[in-house]
Amino acid sequence: MRITHAIWRRILGLLPGEIASNETGWLISPHQHIALLQQRRALMLVNRVRLFALLFALLTPLWIVVDVLTLPVSLWSKLATMRVLATLAFAALVAWSPQDGRLRRAYQGMAMLFAIPTVFYIGSHLLMTQYHLQGISAAIGSGYAFLPFVLLAAFSIFPLTLIENLAFAMPVLLAYALAWILDWSVDSWPSFGGEFWLLSLLAGVSTLASISQLAFIIALVGQTIRDPLTTAFSRRSGIEMLELQLVNAERTQQPLAVAFIDLDQFKSINDQFGHAAGDKTLKQLVQKAQACVRRGDVLVRWGGEEFLLLMPNTDIIQARLAMDRLRRQGLGVRPDGSPLTASIGLAERLADKSNNRRQLVEIADRRMYRAKQQGRDRVVYD
Ligand code: GH3
Ligand code: MG
Ligand code: MG
Repeated sequence: MRITHAIWRRILGLLPGEIASNETGWLISPHQHIALLQQRRALMLVNRVRLFALLFALLTPLWIVVDVLTLPVSLWSKLATMRVLATLAFAALVAWSPQDGRLRRAYQGMAMLFAIPTVFYIGSHLLMTQYHLQGISAAIGSGYAFLPFVLLAAFSIFPLTLIENLAFAMPVLLAYALAWILDWSVDSWPSFGGEFWLLSLLAGVSTLASISQLAFIIALVGQTIRDPLTTAFSRRSGIEMLELQLVNAERTQQPLAVAFIDLDQFKSINDQFGHAAGDKTLKQLVQKAQACVRRGDVLVRWGGEEFLLLMPNTDIIQARLAMDRLRRQGLGVRPDGSPLTASIGLAERLADKSNNRRQLVEIADRRMYRAKQQGRDRVVYD
């Protein structure tokens, strides 16, 4: 276990950008991706699908000319029909552009992009084996065998997690194996084995390229959306995320809780110990809070010493428990050694019957203010 951990850390050390240690899981599976990253990535994936589909839509029919000049008419006419069909499918994929930032749409696009040439490959392979091509025709014909290689190489331009890479590469590898199995003969096995090994290597290399693209995006997204002092999310990205989470919660009919956290008597830290000590206290608070909350929760620096904690799929009771846990565990200490406390206002979209971002924050803010009035260091939730 320690060895795998050490190897994993080594591999991560090779990746571009600084991936925070709590974000390493993001490279493996998309499940924990924050909404903002998910949306940006979905848009990138759709754009790359369209780019590739356009390229294939232009190149696929061009090769008909070569086929006509080199292959027997009965063969090239069938191949040309297949090429025209494939071109139409690629063109449809370019025109079909759901740029709504939904990951599922991006997956559908990618599946289509890879399915079209895979079907084309199996079809052309089966067709080709019925002919005993010689000379230049054979050379042109064997060119078709490179299609799976092109497909697997294409993965490297998509920023994908490890699991997504496997899910998309497996069908291509299987299709390749299938094409050979359908055309089984003993003497074809050595060359099949060699080519299959090469394909697997290629899949490995493009998986690495694809994951390192993802790491780069995570690092970039992380830099632009975080507050440089505390590494909590900035107000701007907090607004964007709350909006996305609200849409998500509405669609899935799940609760969504928002905590407004304002530190108590923070100004006196600055006054007594200087601004640098205040900064340090803020950093420490964010570390403490982030270690305590769930992975999908989002901590936002709303302003100076005010924070929002967005808790998806969390009802008001669970949110109260989470705040109690956070306060019990402590928010850190003030420079004089006394505990740092906060006044917290909680709002939840179902309990407060509000799906409006501003309204939800306002309710939490009002409750935080009441917590101050009631003597600070407490949570108000109704
Ligand atoms: P209360 O319990 O009523 O919330 O009192 P408070 O002192 O926390 O509230 P107040 O709003 O009066 O003061 C907030 C202080 O936070 C004022 C400001 O100097 C300080 N502050 C805001 N941003 C930063 C920052 O980035 N670094 C430091 N060191 N201080 C900051
Ligand atoms: Mg304040
Ligand atoms: Mg304060």
